[in-house]
Amino acid sequence: MDGGQDADLWSRLLGLEPPWSVERIELHVREEKVDVYLVHVDGALWPCPECGKKLPAYDHKDARVWRHLDTMAFQTWVHARPPRVECPDHGVRQAGVSWAESNSRFTKFFERFAIDVARETDTKGAGKILKLSWDGVWGVQERAVARGLRAKPPVALRFMGVDEKAVGHGHQYATIVYNLEKGTVEWVGQDRKKETLDGFFRSLSAEQKAAIEAVGLDRWGPFIASIQEHVPGAEGKLVFDPFHIVGHMNEAVNDVRKREHRQLSEEGRSPLGGTRFWGLYGRENLPEKHREGFAALQTAHLKTGRACAIKEALRDFWAPDSKRTGTAYWQWWHFWATPSRLTPVIRGARMMKGHRTGVLNYFEHRITNAVAEGLNSKIATIQKMAYGFRNKDHFRTAVLFRCGGLQLHPVTHPIPG
Ligand SMILES: [Zn+2]
Repeated sequence: MDGGQDADLWSRLLGLEPPWSVERIELHVREEKVDVYLVHVDGALWPCPECGKKLPAYDHKDARVWRHLDTMAFQTWVHARPPRVECPDHGVRQAGVSWAESNSRFTKFFERFAIDVARETDTKGAGKILKLSWDGVWGVQERAVARGLRAKPPVALRFMGVDEKAVGHGHQYATIVYNLEKGTVEWVGQDRKKETLDGFFRSLSAEQKAAIEAVGLDRWGPFIASIQEHVPGAEGKLVFDPFHIVGHMNEAVNDVRKREHRQLSEEGRSPLGGTRFWGLYGRENLPEKHREGFAALQTAHLKTGRACAIKEALRDFWAPDSKRTGTAYWQWWHFWATPSRLTPVIRGARMMKGHRTGVLNYFEHRITNAVAEGLNSKIATIQKMAYGFRNKDHFRTAVLFRCGGLQLHPVTHPIPG
C-alpha cells in the first residue's frame, strides 16, 4: 500500500501534523504485522524535547520505531527518523514527535490503552493482553506515575491518614499517607519509622502543614512523634482510628480465650475449641451457624464471654454525636473494663487511656482511616503481587498507579477531522 487514501487515513489515526506525513504502509499478513512509515518535509523547525524551543534540524540519526495500537489484531509499528536539534540550553537532542513521548517506545495512543489495561489487571495479565514483556508493562506504569506526579497540583491535604503496610518477604514495611477527603494515596515512603514520615512532611511547605486539620492514625508509635514535630497544633488533630482500636481489643479477647481454653482443657471441659474466629466477629456480622455458640458463651459465665461483651460495648463508644456523651461513655466503659480481672483486656484499656486525647479527638473530626477501605483492598492486592516485585520502589509505583488519583494518561492530539 502506498500514498493516497490509506496514507491520509493513517495520518489522521496517528494525529499527524505537518511536517510529518505517512510515506507508505506495509502489511505483513503472515507475521500479522503492519508497518507504517512516516516522512517529514525539509526545512521545518523542530521542538527541543526538553524546552520545546523550535529549532532547525541539526542531523538525522537512525530510524526509530514505536508500537502503536493494533490494526485488526495486527501488531502495528510506526517508523520514522526524527531529526536531532541543537538547543542552546540542552545541547544536541532528538526532536520531540507529536505521536509519542520522548522516552517511550510506544505511541501515546498505545500508551493510553496499555495504562487502561494495566489498571484492570495485574502486570502479567496486562502483558498477555498487550503482547508485552513484564518490563514493558512495568515501564508503562512507571512512566504513567511519573507523568501523573508531574501534573499533580500542589498538595492540599485537610484530612490525612497514615498507615503502615508490610511489603513482600521478610519484615519490610512501607508508610502510606492517605488523603481521606479524596480517598487517594498521597505518598508512599520506605520503612515505617519516624524519619520515614518526616520525609513526607519535609516535602510540604509550612502553609501546607498548617492546613492539615486532622490526622487519622492506625497505630500509636513513631508516627505520633513525627506528626507532633511537623503539624502545628497536632495534639488536637491526632485521631486514633476506631477500627484499629477495636482490632486491638479483638486481640485481647483472643488472648483471654486462649488462656481460658488452655486452662479448661486441662480440666477436660473446654467449650472454647472452635471459638478462635467467631469470638472476633462484631455481633451483627456473626455468621448464622455461630449464633447459638455465641449466645451460650455469653451465659456460660466464662471469661471469654465477658471479654467479648466488653469489646462489643467498646464498639458503641464511637456512636454518640457529642464529645460530652462520648467522653461519659468512655469513662463508663473504663470503669467496667479496668476492674475486669481480664489481664489482656485491662492492658488494652490502659493503652487506650494513655492515648485518651487521640481517641476522644474522633468526636472533633470524625475521620477514620476506613474511608480508605476501598484503597485498603486494592493495596492488599498489590501486597500480594508485591511478592514478585524486585524492589520496594515497585510497591510505591504500583500503589500510586492504582490508588494515587493521578492523571496517568499522556495527552494525545485530537484526531484531526
Ligand atoms: Zn531545549
